[in-house]
Amino acid sequence: MPDITRTCRITGKLFTITEWEQEFYKKMGVTPPTLCIEERHRRRLSHRNERTIYKGQCSLCAKAMISIYSPDKLNKVYCPDCWWSDKWDPRDFGRDIDFNRPFFDQFAELQRVVPQIALFNLRGENSEYCNITNSNKNCYLVFGGDYCEDCMNSCFSMYCKDVSDVYWTNHSELCFDCIDCGDCYNVRYSQGSYNCKDSDFLFECRACTNCFGCVGLRNKEYHIFNKPYSKEEYHQKIQEYQLHSWSGVQRMKQQFEEFRLRFPHRAAQIINCENSSGDDLRNCKNCSNCFDVEGPAEDLKDCFLAGWGARDMVSCDHGGFGAQLYYEMVGSIEGQRCAFCTFCWTSSDIWYSHMIVNNSHDLFGCSNMKKAEYCILNKQYSKEEYFSVRQKLVDHMKKTGEFGEFFPIANSLFSYNETVANDYFSVSKEEALRMNWKWCDFQTPVQAERTIPAEKLPDSIQDIPDDILNWAILCERTGRPFKIIAQELKYYRRMKIPIPHLCPEERNRARIRRRKPRTTWERECDKCQKTIFTPYRPECPEKIYCEQCYLNEVE
Ligand SMILES: [Zn+2]
Ligand SMILES: [Zn+2]
Repeated sequence: MPDITRTCRITGKLFTITEWEQEFYKKMGVTPPTLCIEERHRRRLSHRNERTIYKGQCSLCAKAMISIYSPDKLNKVYCPDCWWSDKWDPRDFGRDIDFNRPFFDQFAELQRVVPQIALFNLRGENSEYCNITNSNKNCYLVFGGDYCEDCMNSCFSMYCKDVSDVYWTNHSELCFDCIDCGDCYNVRYSQGSYNCKDSDFLFECRACTNCFGCVGLRNKEYHIFNKPYSKEEYHQKIQEYQLHSWSGVQRMKQQFEEFRLRFPHRAAQIINCENSSGDDLRNCKNCSNCFDVEGPAEDLKDCFLAGWGARDMVSCDHGGFGAQLYYEMVGSIEGQRCAFCTFCWTSSDIWYSHMIVNNSHDLFGCSNMKKAEYCILNKQYSKEEYFSVRQKLVDHMKKTGEFGEFFPIANSLFSYNETVANDYFSVSKEEALRMNWKWCDFQTPVQAERTIPAEKLPDSIQDIPDDILNWAILCERTGRPFKIIAQELKYYRRMKIPIPHLCPEERNRARIRRRKPRTTWERECDKCQKTIFTPYRPECPEKIYCEQCYLNEVE
């Protein structure tokens, strides 16, 4: 069976379906994709609202709550306590299949009436402003980060304490504004660095202590811009940079960016992997075109932010944890033989469904079900009926052209700009509406005694009065008001960090932009001219070295 080439229905771009992939589709019983990898990725992400949260009210107990659904949306939303309780039954919303209409329309109608859960926040303690999180304590605006304590304004931080403004940074403490870091302590404004301590502005460093503005160093201490200093000189010199002030941090950010570009960059971060391609992979085997995968992981293709014991998955993101045979799944973990679902946890043989939990199995087109079996569109069938009706529905969907496709973007429960799709594939409001995608302009009003434009804030954290807790700051980029909470002020003072001029959402966006894109290009190593695949675009200002040339340089 040779590789086959197809033309993407949307972009007209050619894409390849490998021999291995064709075997996978056969095993799963699905028809091969009609969209290129990127458009499949965008379509899935448009169903994931990670960080856009609102104040709302539970449709069952009327309690005030935080919700990922804006109040102007018409669907029923339950607070997590009510949602997880036995006070309601999703089967009450079950319905027959109408074989004269498309399946996606019928599923969208079900989605609109079934109670949705306000937040995916498991075992949180004093952490109500968090979503897609597990076992967090005293956290605020943490999204997709688990087992954290006293953390704020972060995405994908696992096992962290006292960190703020980090993205994909694990097992760290007292860190601020870090991206793709791990096992760090008291590190600020850094990227791609591990096992570092008491440092600021690091890029791709390992096991460094008391380093400032350094690139690609290994096991060093008391270095400033990659030059050694005595301990006394070091502490004296870094004071000059005035990192307690906003202007000091901005000056240093610019200076460090220019310094970083003088060094060669590693083509891709593929560590301890076998036969794998993409970027930011650890302990993977046979993972092709994957990004941000934390192994062990085996036989994955086109997967993003996944791993932890995942096997045999194609086109999935934000999931894994022991999952096997997953195709086009979002935010799903610990199950087998599932396809085209959003948020399917510890459940198997689930297709075309949303929010399925507690060891459910054999569901098709279901929404918000716990410990359920043999249901279609939330209607209960006997085991025998289930398999024959399921087959009839699959045949119907093959006729309508729906089978093998993920839910359309227009059918998402969220507006395009509320979802992660807009981070990686951003579009203007006009473009979104032209595509028939939803757009949300609703904003929770901010109550404050006075409003201050960010650029009018005192420059240094030392000059910020307690009264700032009563102010609304106008974000320097969007003009949107945001407030500082007491936990943040305490943290900024302790860490000597200036008050941010951007709202939390814009800060997160800036961190995502600083990361490499989730696609690779073919180009030459800038040293040995060998052909390499790298997420650095061909026109990027960085010097890119192949793995061997890079290691020769830094180690
Ligand atoms: Zn409730
Ligand atoms: Zn080379």
